[in-house]
Amino acid sequence: MSGRIPREFIDDLLVRVDIVDLINSHVPLSKKGNDYWARCPFHSENSPSFSVSQKKQFYHCFGCGANGNAIGFLMEFSHLDFVEAIEDLAGFSGIDVPREAVAYRKEKQDYSALYSTLEQVAVFYVEQLRNTSQGAVAVDYLKDRGLSGDVAKEFSLGYATNDWKALSSRFDEKLLMDAGVLGSKNGRSYDRFRGRLIFPIRDKRKRTIGFGGRVLDESLPKYLNSPETAVFSKGRELYGLSELLEKNSKPERILIVEGYMDVLALAQFGVSYSVAALGTATSKMHLDLLFRFTSELVFCFDGDVAGRKAAWRAVEASFPSLKDGRQVRIMLLPEGRDPDSLIREQGVEGFEGKIEGALALSDYFFNYIGKDVDMETIEGRSLLMARAKPHIEKIPAGYFREMMFGRLEQESSGRALGVLKPPAILTGSPRKKRAGGGVKASPVRIVVAFLLQNPLLKEVFDQKELDLSKMVLPGVDVLKDVLQAIEKIKPANSAVLMEYFRGKPNEKIVNTLISWDFFILSDGVEAEFLGAIDLILQQMDEEMLNGLLGKEKEHGLSLEEKELLKKLLVKKI
Ligand SMILES: [Zn+2]
Repeated sequence: MSGRIPREFIDDLLVRVDIVDLINSHVPLSKKGNDYWARCPFHSENSPSFSVSQKKQFYHCFGCGANGNAIGFLMEFSHLDFVEAIEDLAGFSGIDVPREAVAYRKEKQDYSALYSTLEQVAVFYVEQLRNTSQGAVAVDYLKDRGLSGDVAKEFSLGYATNDWKALSSRFDEKLLMDAGVLGSKNGRSYDRFRGRLIFPIRDKRKRTIGFGGRVLDESLPKYLNSPETAVFSKGRELYGLSELLEKNSKPERILIVEGYMDVLALAQFGVSYSVAALGTATSKMHLDLLFRFTSELVFCFDGDVAGRKAAWRAVEASFPSLKDGRQVRIMLLPEGRDPDSLIREQGVEGFEGKIEGALALSDYFFNYIGKDVDMETIEGRSLLMARAKPHIEKIPAGYFREMMFGRLEQESSGRALGVLKPPAILTGSPRKKRAGGGVKASPVRIVVAFLLQNPLLKEVFDQKELDLSKMVLPGVDVLKDVLQAIEKIKPANSAVLMEYFRGKPNEKIVNTLISWDFFILSDGVEAEFLGAIDLILQQMDEEMLNGLLGKEKEHGLSLEEKELLKKLLVKKI
């Protein structure tokens, strides 16, 4: 979707809007020193540690570490996705969002007819449940399952009678086809869901976008979902989310269960924070969607073999979404139980007790990958390492990732042996911590921070003609990335540069380095920057010196190398 909005427009927008005005319209700010301050909207606190920098066009909380530009603020604060945040920001600045695709407006109109058809079909199914003799059988079925009329109403349950033409005799056939409610065989169309109990599926904006249908007898398939259509994609949507948000737009946690009937049974008992994936495995898109409304997800699976397999797939799918502050837990039900039977047996308290006892993703992960490994042997430990590393590497940079690597090191070394170093970028040692974010202030990172905060300094950097290909210091990859970005987009300010890194691997470290504050002495930014570059050069010399000294001991040096060594030693003195 974001491809439709031209990049230049987004960059322009970030230059045109003042983040201080924007945030001030949501959270009243007061000026102190160079920056503006408020109590943080993202965590609860008594004294303000949320700062907004007019110069950097950037906000940063010293309490919880939240940070970002104007777009990021709207995404977090108003739970918007990227495109929605840009539309909101453009609205705030009083300008229209241009679209690259000309067909967009037309498409949008077509969708509205589709949405309205889906809505009318949903209403029709509800009527069929209430007012037909076949519907009465479905009502009995729901009663048998212990579901009340209130829950049936809340979820707009319906019934499609066993009639091949009920829909096409009432609505436009082309639209029904586009809506996915008709099937076709031998050139003839028929009502796809006929003879089924109907679960309308709604998006987070409460529009009906598709249906699930369940037979009432033993015929197969037991469940049927709408096919993918222009407005419905299984990998993106979750059953029950719309109804959940209606009750609570910021739930403490969301429970992910396996099916329609689980969501309904839990709702019947007042557990109204569950959703179900629609006959597909949970995807990263699902998780990112849910994490916009809550910080904790609990997967709930049957305790049988299939359930444990599904749980592991969910764990794997979770890793790329696990930014700091997000939590995933895994709840395996006793074998032979589903949420429906468990909550009936143990009541809400018993069920919620089980949720409390659900395993943290990290525990589940290490139990699972270590279950058949002999940790007494080096072979076993290296196997564990080899299995775990590719997964942990998928976690976005941050404390959680760092801690998972730490735990892997512990698990595979039996405490003291330091087999694996945590990722270079986040080896924050508290003693030397200079500017927050848990990242150690090395010369390379200081140079990167200066570049991010003052993109024009790239010219100064280029004049020094450093050979980056020879550099092996930690953080060099970020430095290269940032230099390339400045070259490519020529950002007018830090916010634009920050935007460029959204969703890219170095997003997190970039955001941290932008938030660093430097005490600039009277000589000015450029002098400080040159000083940091000199530190890098010194570090490079040192590396080279150590390399040569080592080589001299082992193999001796060539004439050229001896000269170089001499030079380096003189410099050092
Ligand atoms: Zn905060």
